[in-house]
Amino acid sequence: MQDLQAGNGGRSGQSGERKFDTLVVGAGSMGMAAGYHLARAGNRVLLLDAGDPPHDEGAHHGGTRLIRHAYGEGAAYVPLALRAQALWEALERETRAAPRSALFVRTGIVNIGSPGDTFLHEVQLSAARHDLPLETLDAAQASARWPAWRLDAQQRANFEPDGGVLYCERAVRAYREGALAHGATLRTHTRITRLAWRGPDHIEAISESGETFAARTSIVCAGKWTRPLLAALGHAVPVARVRKTFAWFEAGEAFAPERFPGFAISTDHGTYYGFPDLDGSGLKVGRHDGGQPVDAHAPLAPFGDEPGDHADLQRFLARYLPGAGALRMGRACEYDMTPDEHFIIDTLPERPNLHVATGFSGHGFKFASAVGEALAERITLGASRIDLSMFSRARFSPAG
Ligand SMILES: Cc1cc2nc3c(=O)[nH]c(=O)nc-3n(C[C@H](O)[C@H](O)[C@H](O)COP(=O)(O)OP(=O)(O)OC[C@H]3O[C@@H](n4cnc5c(N)ncnc54)[C@H](O)[C@@H]3O)c2cc1C
Repeated sequence: MQDLQAGNGGRSGQSGERKFDTLVVGAGSMGMAAGYHLARAGNRVLLLDAGDPPHDEGAHHGGTRLIRHAYGEGAAYVPLALRAQALWEALERETRAAPRSALFVRTGIVNIGSPGDTFLHEVQLSAARHDLPLETLDAAQASARWPAWRLDAQQRANFEPDGGVLYCERAVRAYREGALAHGATLRTHTRITRLAWRGPDHIEAISESGETFAARTSIVCAGKWTRPLLAALGHAVPVARVRKTFAWFEAGEAFAPERFPGFAISTDHGTYYGFPDLDGSGLKVGRHDGGQPVDAHAPLAPFGDEPGDHADLQRFLARYLPGAGALRMGRACEYDMTPDEHFIIDTLPERPNLHVATGFSGHGFKFASAVGEALAERITLGASRIDLSMFSRARFSPAG
């Protein structure tokens, strides 16, 4: 069933007519944020989504996402992370969310690794370069401060007090409501299967039921569908879809947010992340590396279908967080991975009105507010306030 929701001034899409300035193909984490910022700037935006976001058919479900500022993936991300934090807080104020429906909780984030770990090194570099608060603890100090952790003697912890947890589905919903309030139009249950570039001020998106939507500009941020949609136009984006799992476990008082910050840890066996027991939901843990490559059109096997889904997390918990209890439930989700695990946010060669935002490689959600703003600025102002050149597509395929 297709569903149209229009805010003030919204218009429905009709075959080939250009009633919109921008088509956003994929109204998930990035697309909904972009739609909000575009609509706020007065741009007539049509948001198209295969589902009814927020939903569990993409990469934004599971309740929570970590937001870190001292960035282990590279100090160059820090300005984007700080802008994103400010925008999440602004969104929370704008939607006047009651405390129970907060978008962000400042739990702090502890990054754990061995000396010489490049992730920890980048965290420290980011903090030093951008004057971010960061404490360094040895294993004994960390376990004394956060009793749930049983760390190896050589491990080190960096604690970032200003990081924390975003409620991801609530955030997508808040942007949806905000976008509609500012005049955006949203078409849910509308899967786009083809794009047609007609010129520098005319792009069409064609749905699987044959409807055509047209606008001057488009942003393609359709998760796993981005690659096939662009491939049909002759543009390659090296993004691989990978199945990931995460799960919630019974947790006692040692896992309450006051005693147990969000975390990211590199071990000899893998890289894991997790969340304190928020609102009685239990300890949530996932593995960041590994996973199973999946074709863009294949369904994701549910949690428990792969032999290692539960056993891997259980092994990690037994060694480092032995106070965790039994499995409550698990879920499968997907990462869209680029070869260097940095994002692709760019326009396409010779098609300056066709923007792409993809390859968020399992660490993109925290930035969605700022990526959405930057995309909107590129479209409405011609350039974004934050330099996004490190996310150029040309780093992979200079020719086309
Ligand atoms: C288990 C897990 C844990 C994560 N943890 C973190 C974390 O702690 N911190 C962090 O910052 N990031 C984290 N991430 C990464 C982050 O969630 C993603 O990078 C981010 O959600 C990607 O946003 P997106 O807009 O590309 O995808 P989505 O939010 O999935 O949006 C894509 C949208 O496109 C729509 N769509 C798809 N195909 C079509 C089509 N053909 N036509 C129309 N619409 C279409 C989908 O329905 C969907 O709504 C995690 C991801 C996972 C899976």
